[in-house]
Amino acid sequence: MAIYFNKPFVTGKEFEYMKDIINTQGKLCGDGVYTQKCHTFLEKKLNCKKALLTHSCTAALEMAAILIDIQPGDEIIMPSFTFVSTANAFVLRGGTPVFVDIRPDTKNINEDLIEAAITERTKAIVPVHYAGVSCNMDKIMEIARRYNLLVVEDAAQALGSRYRGKHLGTIGDIGCFSFHETKNVVSGEGGAIVINNDRYAERAEFIREKGTNRSKFFRGQVDKYTWIDIGSSYLPSDIIAAFLYSQLENTDKINSKRLHIWNEYDNFLKQYDDIIYRPHCPDDCSHNAHMYYVLFKTMQERADFINFMKENNISTPFHYIPLHSSPAGEKYCRVAGDMKETNKISNTLVRLPMFYELNDEEMYVLKSKISFYMQKNRIRFKNQDCNLLF
Ligand SMILES: *Cc1c(COP(=O)(O)O)cnc(C)c1O
Repeated sequence: MAIYFNKPFVTGKEFEYMKDIINTQGKLCGDGVYTQKCHTFLEKKLNCKKALLTHSCTAALEMAAILIDIQPGDEIIMPSFTFVSTANAFVLRGGTPVFVDIRPDTKNINEDLIEAAITERTKAIVPVHYAGVSCNMDKIMEIARRYNLLVVEDAAQALGSRYRGKHLGTIGDIGCFSFHETKNVVSGEGGAIVINNDRYAERAEFIREKGTNRSKFFRGQVDKYTWIDIGSSYLPSDIIAAFLYSQLENTDKINSKRLHIWNEYDNFLKQYDDIIYRPHCPDDCSHNAHMYYVLFKTMQERADFINFMKENNISTPFHYIPLHSSPAGEKYCRVAGDMKETNKISNTLVRLPMFYELNDEEMYVLKSKISFYMQKNRIRFKNQDCNLLF
């Protein structure tokens, strides 16, 4: 039996809604009936003023960079331990991402290091809610207010997660979500931008529709539509929205199933706390179980574990190559302070299989392979010179 790291799934009504589009709605392009349903659903669910579907979180981040008017030379503070799109979206506008180290517990940007990275050119902070666990948003919003900076939340992994009761993605000026097939709620490729600052609400529609006021035209607010701003095509087809709508309706069901799997892993792995490090979620956050990961003490220990799992047909990938040490990161970005935690964590973190349909049989196999491995290596790992971590 092979156990994949991730597996696409449907929740029930995806195909029914897609057929409905083709048979009765007669409109396959973007901003149709199902796109509207998704917008309304997200606005209610997240309790936010405006949500717009995009074809990816990458697109939502690019829209955010245009919306906050990033100009060549502007600096944007973010972690290096993230997916490329977080930085790339701002580099495309000529901005310079400035990397700040992460916290060893949550792997999120270390809020205590942000102020030291602020310069005259700083325009925004981009907190990334890693594994669906919130950054310290009170502190980040307080710094942003004090220095007059904008906040764009990369909430790609965080649909349904909260910080002090508020949904992630709705706290900063703008929030960006992903529905890529590796996330909790999926449509293959997909995303959404959430506008929390009214200042950006109207312009977001123009940018998403090739720089035109077509959305206003559809609402009957103007009698013809025209090119009025820069923009691109950032909206998904209504077929994608139809698929997504069924998934969105099941957000809570998906997240609670994942949370069940997450807790199974966590309770089981407690017994190995002497040799590995488990994820941490601060008390003021509730997370959506986007990811289960563990950290080994050294890079070699991680490599040995991944190889053992691979021999047993179990896929356990790692990420990220820190952006500051990637070729494009070296060229377009800079670091503020050292990247000690980022480097350590990216060398020792491994992700365990996590998907909606992970079943009891698979969990049983996972647990038995992991225990066999941990017990066999416990003494060796315990005696390991562990100056790399902890
Ligand atoms: C997945 C992810 C993205 C990109 O999402 P896409 O929808 O694939 O463009 C951006 N940032 C983070 C933190 C992610 O995990």
